[in-house]
Amino acid sequence: MLHTLTIHAAADLLRAGEITAAELTEAALGRIYAVDNAVKAYLTLTPEAALQQAAAADATIAAARRDHALDHLSPLAGIPLAIKDVISVEGVRTTCGSKILENYVPPYSATAVERLAAAGAVILGKTNTDEFAMGSSTENSAYFTTRNPWDLARVPGGSSGGSAAAVAADACLAALGSDTGGSVRQPAALCGVVGLKPTYGRVSRYGLVAFASSLDQIGVLAKDVTDAALLLGTIAGHDPRDSTSVDVPVADYLLGVRGHGSGGDGQRSGDRGQGAGVRGLRVGAPKEYFIPGMQPEVEAAVRAAIGVLADLGAAIREISLPHTDLALPVYYLIAPAEASANLARYDGIRYGLSTPGATLWDGYRLTRGQGFGPEVKRRIMLGAYALSAGYYDAYYLKAQQVRTLIKADFENALREVDVIACPTSPTTAFRIGEKADDPLSMYLADVFTLSLNLAGMCGISAPCGFDAAGLPIGLQLMAGAFQEATLLRVAYAYEQATGWHRQKPHIADQRR
Ligand code: GLN
Repeated sequence: MLHTLTIHAAADLLRAGEITAAELTEAALGRIYAVDNAVKAYLTLTPEAALQQAAAADATIAAARRDHALDHLSPLAGIPLAIKDVISVEGVRTTCGSKILENYVPPYSATAVERLAAAGAVILGKTNTDEFAMGSSTENSAYFTTRNPWDLARVPGGSSGGSAAAVAADACLAALGSDTGGSVRQPAALCGVVGLKPTYGRVSRYGLVAFASSLDQIGVLAKDVTDAALLLGTIAGHDPRDSTSVDVPVADYLLGVRGHGSGGDGQRSGDRGQGAGVRGLRVGAPKEYFIPGMQPEVEAAVRAAIGVLADLGAAIREISLPHTDLALPVYYLIAPAEASANLARYDGIRYGLSTPGATLWDGYRLTRGQGFGPEVKRRIMLGAYALSAGYYDAYYLKAQQVRTLIKADFENALREVDVIACPTSPTTAFRIGEKADDPLSMYLADVFTLSLNLAGMCGISAPCGFDAAGLPIGLQLMAGAFQEATLLRVAYAYEQATGWHRQKPHIADQRR
């Protein structure tokens, strides 16, 4: 049952010498072999490399024990993780869920992955995603649809659906995802796990395959808030290789979670302080995020969660983010515009699939025609149109102006409150196929998450209950730029008061 552990619980057992990283990795791989035929979270598995990394971590841990240096060891040493397949891992196929990159093997790792490797983490494999992270269900993956571990007939959300499902199914201890308009938070909500989207610029985008460069950010999916804090603390920080990464010191994210810091006091990663709590913190409930048409059970669970924060001593007030209804049209101009430019590099010459034609132009047409799926083509057309001469001012420029208004909404609200609390997704997990032929209804799945990316701020989704069908519901907390410590503090206080994160889906073992 080692695969069911959180990172911080496993780190304690590793330090105490009660388990080894090799045993932990074998347990995680065993779990993958048992359930992933049903869940289909992984696109690529790297078991041999994972076992080698685990052996190296065991050697590092043994040396630290010998040198009485266990307190200096990263809590991620020997911890098996999964990586969304839009994030480069050196020498491992990185498809972005697309046929155009079916056989692409990156020659370098993303900075976030390098930092995990330097901490001694073990990489189990690459997880499924909507093609180039465009979607909310993983149904846009060119390979297969991942299934929600709570109900295999339903989607896990997306686009980081593979990572969210892997975490929910205990098929890894935690995972990296990416969030351009909600792709970490929404699948976290639909799979009942914790998903954190950092502030734009907090985590390096170097090695994250670009979708919409002004919105993309690597985030984490974890079994609890403490694990999200540990992971963020490892991958965050300035990177000279990403000019949009910001040189702001990385806070001690465990401080807010546990009420004391991570170093120097001999405390181990599983120790539980009281947490810093939420007493006196101001929490805003935006009226535009409780709308007719949303699933009543979602509204009820989120309102109850806000009540829990009030009981814990937070001051709740209603706030307004008046331009909320413009976020969706603005996002679907800016994101496709940036995507159409970013995806121009897949020309059959430099990367991946190459289908030669009679002329250079034919080669482009055949390669891109065969390599990209329908949603990606739709976005390229939308984006190229919005950027074209004669329409640029009417669409792209106007969208950028409204983006400024949306950002100002958040800045104004966050003068009155410290965090904003609202639903992550208007519904729980929908059935596979239910929205697949209706792009607009699929786009609406992210109606509560897109604004935050447009504003460049940070957010987290944490489990806050279940609907009548037993499907998880997510509470979204949002805060200003570089306020991740506050988010984690509130999410942790809520998690400790409720314990929703401890509930697990039942998945039948597929092995005979
Ligand atoms: N669902 C949104 C989209 O399709 C967001 C995706 C994301 O965050 N990567 O663009």
